[in-house]
Amino acid sequence: MKREIYIAEGKSLYDVLSKPELDKKDIVYLLSLNDETEISQLFRKADSVRKEFCGDDVHLRGIIEFSNYCEQDCIYCGLRKSNKHLERYRMSIDEIIETARKIFSAGIKTVVLQSGEDFYYCKEDITRIIKSIKDNCDVAITLSLGERSFEEYNEWKSAEADRYLLKHETANEKLYSALHSHQKLEERLAHLKYLKSIGFQAGSGNIIGLPGQTIEDIADDILLCEEIDCDMCSFSPFIPSPETPMKNIPPADLNLTLKTMAVARIVLKNVHIPATTALSTLTPEGRKLGLNVGANVIMPNFTPDEYKDKYRIYANKKTYDPIEYVSELRQMIHSMGRKVGEDKGHSFKK
Ligand code: SAH
Repeated sequence: MKREIYIAEGKSLYDVLSKPELDKKDIVYLLSLNDETEISQLFRKADSVRKEFCGDDVHLRGIIEFSNYCEQDCIYCGLRKSNKHLERYRMSIDEIIETARKIFSAGIKTVVLQSGEDFYYCKEDITRIIKSIKDNCDVAITLSLGERSFEEYNEWKSAEADRYLLKHETANEKLYSALHSHQKLEERLAHLKYLKSIGFQAGSGNIIGLPGQTIEDIADDILLCEEIDCDMCSFSPFIPSPETPMKNIPPADLNLTLKTMAVARIVLKNVHIPATTALSTLTPEGRKLGLNVGANVIMPNFTPDEYKDKYRIYANKKTYDPIEYVSELRQMIHSMGRKVGEDKGHSFKK
């Protein structure tokens, strides 16, 4: 349908891809492409925009999932508080610091600290972790701890944490409220804006394939990332978790996920976009496919073996030995004519 409108207007895909700025109508048109040749054209354009604005470096970010306790009850997420089947764990401060050291020793320049929304770790605990990692390892630190207080964000910024990842999940307010019984989109956005205002490099993004989500909603997700002026944006496919009310919802469509990443790259230009773990869970070729349609980041998981099976956001999450995985990644990246980023891979906007 959308395509017909463009044809009626005498516009070709080439015309749309050549525009310096895309509006919502253009984005919806691109996300709706279903002809294979046209989709390949879209992907090629995204790859060239990635090359122009981000170069050939692929940045590796080592992630530590340090606690699967969560105060929130997001309907799609296996960590949700109501999931009584999940055995919960918390890593000690020393274990977290030790794991960060392993990431640094593997030659990776960013440590991502992620958890459910777990207030067991107080402001001072997180500060101690940040300071100790910074004292021992020359790395950037990304926090992904959910919504915490503005006072905590200030303190962690002063402790020299560099980035904060807080996905908006969906730009559709009604859908957001239906998925998050205790949270509001407005609140989430206020946190993102605050994080940005105090100097954090901020990351947002969506989940693709949520029930009731439309192509227009996904276009809004991309435009919202532009409005927030995100430094990094993650577009990940929904994968059902058998331990949630969404267990029978099918996983996201691979092509729609790749088209979203590609269009996001074309619209957002100089941002970091990961080929997500969810994408490689959806298909074994996920990382490579993602890197070919605009992604420039991969996040190897360094959560210790005894915990990683318990960080079950969704089913069949890919697990691997991180050292072997990183060496395999390096080979894959080189074979694609790309390079592993040697610096910290800070925001392109600074
Ligand atoms: N508690 C933190 C981060 C932990 S979850 C926070 O609130 O930001 C990290 C990300 O996993 C979420 O932002 C969400 O986008 C993603 N996620 C959760 N459940 C998912 C599912 N079933 N499929 C795909 N992605 C999911």
